[in-house]
Parts: sequence; structure tokens; C-alpha cells
Amino acid sequence: MHGVQNVCTQSHGLLSSQFTGDLTCVRKIVYNFVLFRYYFAMETSSTDLIVKALTKAIVEHRLEPGTKLAEQKLADHHNVSRTLVRQALFRMSQNRLVRMEPARGAFVASPSVEEARQVFSVRRMLECNMAVQFARTATPQKIKILRAHIAKEQAAVSQTDPSVRTELLGNFHVRIAELLDNAVLADILQDLISRCALVTLMYQSTQDAACSSKEHTILVDAMEAKDEQRVLALMSEHLDGVERSLTFTAGNW
Ligand SMILES: [Zn+2]
Repeated sequence: MHGVQNVCTQSHGLLSSQFTGDLTCVRKIVYNFVLFRYYFAMETSSTDLIVKALTKAIVEHRLEPGTKLAEQKLADHHNVSRTLVRQALFRMSQNRLVRMEPARGAFVASPSVEEARQVFSVRRMLECNMAVQFARTATPQKIKILRAHIAKEQAAVSQTDPSVRTELLGNFHVRIAELLDNAVLADILQDLISRCALVTLMYQSTQDAACSSKEHTILVDAMEAKDEQRVLALMSEHLDGVERSLTFTAGNW
């Protein structure tokens, strides 16, 4: 109660140690806290809804790469404030789905096929080595974590929202780096994968996504068996396959 009393004393300038005073103060703090959480939750969910709606429009090709995203128009359309729209656009720019240009505003990102190819080339350099290192040191507990992740991927692949499955399929690779206790590698991979997020969202078919998840299972089987040569070959083939499926379909823009 002392901590609460200190807060009361500071915020209201009262030096009361009476029980009733404390109780009123606690009520005020709890009330304000609940109110803050309520508004915060409301704001977060509204931002989420705009992010979801815009991502869906991009995935369904209703918003093509390079399209300008006017804040006021979006605010009117979703019946929310411009601040919320700005927050949503900022979040999407962090995932590289949206490009923010100073003094010009926000646009749907226009990733190039060449950039996707370069990203996959760097990923091969990093991840083939990472996979072998993981196979060498993996414990049954770590293998279990990867298998649990794959189960989530497979559940997401059978649903219609491609943004969830795209995130989970990419996160599988980041999880391996995290399980190796290499935060730098995990950060680099996260960045590389988000560079291809738009291409993946727009051009990875459900069938390709299912195939990708199946390959994750085969890779983890080889990791569990500590078959390093097979792990190396499987990771390389997996990245080749994902790159081919994206850049081949996206190549005609
Ligand atoms: Zn993968």
C-alpha cells in the first residue's frame, strides 16, 4: 500500500494516510488504468483492422505495387482518424509492404524481381551454413520447438489469410537462428525475409506454401538425424524452390 500511497501523494498533493483516502486513490488509479487499457486496446485493434484490410487488398491485387495510399481517403473509407491510418501505414512500412516517401506520402511497395533474387542469394550463403550448425548442436527440445512451429504453419496454410502463413513460413527460418542463440543472424534474416514479403504475399500460391511447409518437415527430420550433408542439400533446394516459385510468377510485371 505504501507504493500506492506515494503515487497518491505525488499526483494529488495530499498527505493522507487514512485508509479511506487510500481506497479512493486506489480506485482512481485502477479506473484510469482500466480506461487507458481500454482506449489503447481500441486503438490497437482499429490499427490492426486497417493493416489487415490493406494487406488483403494488396494480396488480392486490388491495390497494385506503386499505388499511392492517401491518408484522408483511407480514413474516410474506414471511418477512422488519420492518426490511426498513419499508424497502420507506418507498421506496414516496417514490414516493407508500404514505402514512405518524404513530402509525397505512402505507396504500395514495388519490389523488383532482381532484389528478390539478390535476397535469396544472400539467404543461401547464410542459411545453408546455419542449418548445418543447427543440426550439429540441436537438442530434442529444440527439434520439438521447430515441429510445433511447423504444426502452426500447416494450420495457417489451410486457412485463407495468406499474410499469417507468409509470416509463419518466414519465421521458421528466423526461429532456427534464434534457437542457435544468434540474435544478430535472426535480425539479419528477419530483414532479408521482409524484403521479399510483398512478392511472397502476392505471388506464393497456397500449393507452393503447403509445399514449403512440407519441406520444413523433411529438413527438421534430417536435422534430428544429424545428417549434415542432407541438411545442407535440403536447405539449398528449399531456398531454390521458394525463389523459383516467386520470381517465375512475379517475373511478368
Ligand atoms: Zn522455408
